Parts: sequence; structure tokens; C-alpha cells
Amino acid sequence: MDEARIAIVTGATRGIGFEICRQLGRLGIHVLLTSRDKLKGRAAAQQLQAEGLPVQSHPLDVTDCPSAHGLHQFIEAEYGRLDVLVNNAGILLGRGVSVLEADLDLMRLNLETMALGPMRLCQTFVPMMLHYNYGRIVNMSSGWGQLSDTGTGQPGYRMAKTALNSLTVMLAAELEGTNVLVNSMCPGWVRTEMGGADADRSVEQGADTAVWLATLPEGGPSGGFFEDRQPIPW
Ligand code: NAP
Repeated sequence: MDEARIAIVTGATRGIGFEICRQLGRLGIHVLLTSRDKLKGRAAAQQLQAEGLPVQSHPLDVTDCPSAHGLHQFIEAEYGRLDVLVNNAGILLGRGVSVLEADLDLMRLNLETMALGPMRLCQTFVPMMLHYNYGRIVNMSSGWGQLSDTGTGQPGYRMAKTALNSLTVMLAAELEGTNVLVNSMCPGWVRTEMGGADADRSVEQGADTAVWLATLPEGGPSGGFFEDRQPIPW
């Protein structure tokens, strides 16, 4: 393929999403750095443009249907296709809260942001990917979404990441036999606004597996859950 691939990264104003944009840009992929705050997104994209990278900002609140529709219209008019979707946007609210005391509105917000938002974006963009029979979808999950290792606290976050993993498995099954590959991943504990200063990983390390999954060759894995480029249990 002669033209540069086109990628969307959600929640990319800072942290792991911002670093994924940088690493994809360094590979020559044209990146749409998306953000719910237009000005923050523009500033983040300008920082990467100053590094000479092909990065452009576009507003996207993953919980908002018209916002996703607007991004789809923009991509259709501008490029006519989408090659990579990184569902990275995330929130961590209600840390330490018991499942018995969890606020249901907060549970909904977690699910909207980290499960239903990504699902909407898949519904919006997978048809475009299937049209050209190329797509790489990366769902940024977490060890806190693993059913095999569920602990206490953060019920909204845990449930949303488990639901995101379920989306990965269902979608991969529906896309079997195509060159649209979808996988979940955990970045490890990363030094970001969410992870905090004590985390043991840099954003570069946190972004590595996402970039690997976003650029898998044809015949690469689909329907898996990865950390450090290795499969991990659900
Ligand atoms: P972060 O620094 O807090 O960044 C989160 C990003 O998500 C921000 O850009 C935020 O935008 C954006 N966001 C939140 N809600 C959004 C919405 N409705 N629409 C669009 N964007 C939205 O977090 P991070 O550590 O980089 O985390 C990135 C991903 O990795 C998340 O999915 C997180 O769950 C996952 N993860 C992180 C760790 C870790 O240790 N850091 C571990 C496991 C998994 P604003 O600027 O508008 O707030």
C-alpha cells in the first residue's frame, strides 16, 4: 500500500494515549489524536507536529454518539478509510469503593467510557475496515479487568474493562477470516495521571504492546489479551 495508514487514538491528550500517537507517528502512520477537549487535543497534536510527526487533532468524546458520528464524517470525507483504532480513553473514579456501595450512575459512566464507547466506535468504523479488508483494533484494557484475578475496589473500572474484553472476543469471532484483527491489552502499571508517580513503568513501555498490536502483520493474532506482547489470562 502506497498511502500512509490512518489511525485513531482515543483519549490521547496525555499519558499512554499521547505516547501511542507519538510511536505510531514515528512509524509514518497518519494519526488522528482525539480528545474530548478540543483545545487540549490541539495543543497535544502541536507538540507532536513540532517533533515532525504526522499527527492531527480531532475532537471526540467517546461517550457521545454525535461526536463519534462527526469523526466518522470527517474521516470519510478526508481519507475514505480507517486502518487502526486504538480504544485508549479511560477514567478511574471511585477508587477503593466496595461493590455493595458503588454508585450506579458512576458504574454507568465507567461502562459508557470504557466499554460502550469503544463498542460504538467499532460499530462506526469496522464497516470501513472491512471494505478494504484491513483493520487493527486495540482495546486498552487492564489487569483489573481480568476475571481470573478479580480483586476488590474500583467496581466500575473492573466491570467496564471486563466488558471491553468481552467486546474483543465477540468482535474477533465475528471478524474471523478477515484481515481485521482485534485484541485487548494491559499496559502494566504506568506513570501517568491515572497510574500515579509511583508506578513502575514509563509511558514508552506502556505504549509498546499497543503499537505492536496496531501494526500486526496479516495472519497475526485476533481475539487475544496481551501484556508485554505475550498472551495473559482473561
Ligand atoms: P490518563 O493519563 O488519565 O489519560 C486518560 C485519557 O482518557 C485522557 O486523555 C482523558 O482525557 C481521556 N478520556 C477520559 N474520558 C474520556 C472520554 N469520555 N472521551 C474521550 N477521552 C476521554 O490515563 P492513562 O494512564 O494514560 O490510561 C490510558 C488507558 O490505559 C486507560 O484506558 C486506562 O484504563 C489504561 N490503563 C492504565 C494503567 C496505568 O497504570 N496508567 C494501567 C492499566 C490500564 P481528558 O484530558 O479530557 O481528561
